[in-house]
Amino acid sequence: MQSDSFTSLALTPQFLANLTTLGYDHMTQVQAETLPSVLAGSDLIAQAKTGSGKTAAFGIGILHKLNPAWFAIQGLVLCPTRELADQVAGELRRLARGVGNVKILTLTGGVSMRPQIASLEHGAHIVVGTPGRIRDHLGRATLDLANVQTLVLDEADRMTDMGFYDEIAGIVSATPKHRQTLLFSATYPDDIRFATQGFLRDPLEVKVE
Ligand code: ADP
Ligand code: MG
Repeated sequence: MQSDSFTSLALTPQFLANLTTLGYDHMTQVQAETLPSVLAGSDLIAQAKTGSGKTAAFGIGILHKLNPAWFAIQGLVLCPTRELADQVAGELRRLARGVGNVKILTLTGGVSMRPQIASLEHGAHIVVGTPGRIRDHLGRATLDLANVQTLVLDEADRMTDMGFYDEIAGIVSATPKHRQTLLFSATYPDDIRFATQGFLRDPLEVKVE
């Protein structure tokens, strides 16, 4: 039986105080079942329904490892849509108040590349984006993923349904092999299992009904 208190995790007092400010009194079930392993560095496949708190499960994982003094992209989150990327970036920004000055950039389609390129030139710690646009930046060499410590595939089932598999595979290959990879999905059918197993190393599998 896991503790559902955030204080059971190896988080700084500042980070815990920010969680309290956000009204996060207890971990949700998916957070309690994944965060100890995520903070220990394990790869993860987590299956849980919408609204179960998956963003903080990976967000706390990314932020725990992040070095704000190092201006390199250390966390990358892939999302199926622009709306979801914006939501995830918003949640990460709230969580990051417990860390300090963390620059979080969203890179999604439907807007011009130029301002995104300018933002990238100024440096970012975490990028949240959609596979198509991330791939475009890689193709133009305007995005460097060589320092990514944590790679998140959020709503992996939706991304593969939308035909993003090839883009995702290209993006994964631009990140370091020694990264931590976290996959979140509402469903986890066999075809996604086969498609993504090469991205993960000995992952913990958690399913919350
Ligand atoms: P999912 O990605 O699983 O659909 P979200 O990460 O978007 O879910 O979280 C749903 C809502 O729950 C968000 O508004 C988030 O801020 C809130 N939330 C997440 N974790 C907690 C927690 N431990 N305590 C209170 N609220 C939380
Ligand atoms: Mg989500």
